[in-house]
Amino acid sequence: MKLKYSLLISIVVYSILYSQPKPALSSSEIKLALKKLDVLGSVLYIAAHPDDENTAVISYLAKEKLLRTGYLSLTRGDGGQNLIGPEQSEQLGVVRTQELLEARKRDGGEQFFTRAIDFGYSKSSDETFEFWDKEKILSDVVWVVRKFRPDIIITRFPATGEGGHGHHTASAILALEAFDLANDPTAFPEQLKYVSVWQPRRVFWNAWLPALQNANIDLSRIPSLNLGEFNSLLGKSYTEVSAFSRSMHKSQGFGASGVRNNLLNYFTLLKGDSVGNDMFEGIDLSWNRIEGGNEIHTLIQKTINEFDDDNPPASVENLFLIYDRISNLKDDYWKKIKLKEVKEIIRSCAGIWIEAISDNEFVSVGDTLKVKASIVNRSNLDFILNEIDLSFLNNQKQFSDNLKIGEIKSYSYNLYIPNNTLISQPYWLKENHSVGMFTINNQELIGLPEEKSKLNCEFVVGYKNHSINFSLPIYYRITDPVDGEVYKSVVITPPVTVNFDKEIYFLSDKNEKEIKVTLQAFKNAGTGKLILISNSGWNVEPSEIDFKFDRINQKKDFYIKVIPSDNNSNSELSAQLLVDDKTYENSLVRIEYKHILPQTIFYEAKSKLELFDFEKDGVNKIGYIVGSGDMIPDFLTDLGFDVILMDDKHISSNNLSQFDVIITGIRAYNTRENLAAFHKELVKYVEAGGTLISQYNTTGDLITQPGVLPLKLSRDRVTDENSEVEILNNSHQVFNKPFKITKEDFNNWIQERGLYFPNEWDKSYEALLSMNDKGETPKEGSLLITKYGKGTFVYTGLSFFREIPAGVEGAIKLFINLLYANK
Ligand SMILES: [Zn+2]
Repeated sequence: MKLKYSLLISIVVYSILYSQPKPALSSSEIKLALKKLDVLGSVLYIAAHPDDENTAVISYLAKEKLLRTGYLSLTRGDGGQNLIGPEQSEQLGVVRTQELLEARKRDGGEQFFTRAIDFGYSKSSDETFEFWDKEKILSDVVWVVRKFRPDIIITRFPATGEGGHGHHTASAILALEAFDLANDPTAFPEQLKYVSVWQPRRVFWNAWLPALQNANIDLSRIPSLNLGEFNSLLGKSYTEVSAFSRSMHKSQGFGASGVRNNLLNYFTLLKGDSVGNDMFEGIDLSWNRIEGGNEIHTLIQKTINEFDDDNPPASVENLFLIYDRISNLKDDYWKKIKLKEVKEIIRSCAGIWIEAISDNEFVSVGDTLKVKASIVNRSNLDFILNEIDLSFLNNQKQFSDNLKIGEIKSYSYNLYIPNNTLISQPYWLKENHSVGMFTINNQELIGLPEEKSKLNCEFVVGYKNHSINFSLPIYYRITDPVDGEVYKSVVITPPVTVNFDKEIYFLSDKNEKEIKVTLQAFKNAGTGKLILISNSGWNVEPSEIDFKFDRINQKKDFYIKVIPSDNNSNSELSAQLLVDDKTYENSLVRIEYKHILPQTIFYEAKSKLELFDFEKDGVNKIGYIVGSGDMIPDFLTDLGFDVILMDDKHISSNNLSQFDVIITGIRAYNTRENLAAFHKELVKYVEAGGTLISQYNTTGDLITQPGVLPLKLSRDRVTDENSEVEILNNSHQVFNKPFKITKEDFNNWIQERGLYFPNEWDKSYEALLSMNDKGETPKEGSLLITKYGKGTFVYTGLSFFREIPAGVEGAIKLFINLLYANK
């Protein structure tokens, strides 16, 4: 029993690292794994975001130095832009968590996070710590250091601000403070229930070459790594491995090519023992560092020497000796890690394949999942299957089945999922969160990239007098005609989910509005009642609908009407489902991309209703030139405007006079090549009496300057969403028609005011607003307007693309007013 307990710990690590059944290692990979088995040391790389990490350094440390290598990204990259799909904020964080896990599978690292949220750009670490509770994030960094026990910490950024983004600087500050505190038992003593104190030896900055050259540092006297080194067992240089890893950051568009020449990286000591040009100087990276390790080293060397590429099973005998020795070690930390490694090598040498496959991707609470557990031994060694344990149910089955070479053994199970089982959910999204911090109540989950699957299968296998277990999550598997074998996690669901088709609905008059509600069944048959509730005096009709489903995965649409109240312009619409005398209120969000495992998030089924009562008065048809993508066209359609997304056909035609207003979406002048030629048509359109509104573009890759008259974009931005805003001309009609705009309309904005404001413009423009971040000079380029011919042109770097989908009333009223700028 004792042996089994220690093995179960190692399984936790295993299932976090590999999100699908792992094929056996090849002979050269086994050789590399044997060498790694003989190295005891670890390095933790610390930065702020997915993509900050130097994947070549991680590859080098994991596969050349053969060290346990971790990346602690303080955030999950929830802010920023998604280049591959619609997910934003916390859903984008879910995508990027998986992208990092895929990256680590390729570069050999392990992934960790803190509770910090990427809330968007901040100009300094001080501003960052206004959103991150510094004590809590520091506690998380100390926690990861105490758990991971790195000999060395490497930061991507210096603590002095040259990293630009406030999150970057904050990550280095926290790394240095954690270095000082991790070994102090009076710091975060509540953690010591689970972990011991730990003192890393050094902290380095993975420095930028120009910074070192500018400081005249003698590069021969500081540690360096040649990341371009070639590893013949991999057939790749570490920079090539790194390109595979970095290319997993697809939501950021970071596909990378391999570098094939020498590439030196340098490391400057920030804290810890003084050092020459070897960053590991004085650190024992061998089995000598733990009691009883010496004999294990001798056995590993013997196994390496005797390893036969053509006959890996011949090494299994030696490997079991190593396995037994490691099992008897007193040092729990290295025992856990090295047992996991040696088990993987044994499994690969014997060509053992295990899997546990369900008959469905979803299983409802109160329902049963069919699972087929299979194992096959592809060596001539006499393995015996002793036990299969589906831990979720404590459902053990004992066997004594010989595993003959190439004969797959399969066993079927019906797994009942009790009604009180928690439904699947990313653990950091189980509680409500603030702008800067996730709420996680279970200390042991903090730091983990994701929670261990509840649906796990363990195989206990005997060999002579040895016993070993292999464990993996239960998967759903399909054979896709294009992609071949595809694995998906099994999701525990409520019996039925309910989704409104939008998170927010906009109304422009007090007439009833029709709303679509979609129900999806996750049980084979059943009936129930859908109950709809609106508050603040709004009505919903009907408020109850009976439903019936015949089969699992069936979807049904229902249409309801909401009627605004005379007294309240806002309401919240929510839905409940009554099934078998229990109430459920979950909506379902699915995230599916080919490069990551599909993800599922459940929310409370709720939507916002917002009424903006105004006369359409001469504005009906709006042309929208989509840039990098935003939700403004949906918003305008919801309000009842006739919105035409202008494709290349519209853009090249001269028939622009049909549009009352034309709007360019965010970054249109960065992403729409044909705007270079078409811009002069837009200028003519304004001259003839049209209204053109241009939203923010970046300075970097402008196709042509936006604006009917000259203006120059800059990197001016105001990141504090609560910064004071001054209205420079109260009587201007964009502050009066149809809505009166006052200072109060700049309350409750989110994330930022705006970005890439022009800082020079033709004197014909009128600047309408002034704003600035703390300690900076006033910026007046956020909203510029000019008459031109018979028309009007507006340029705005205000972040309407963020504020409008979030339902920020003041921003919405101001945007509606801009549509009437020429009326
Ligand atoms: Zn970053």
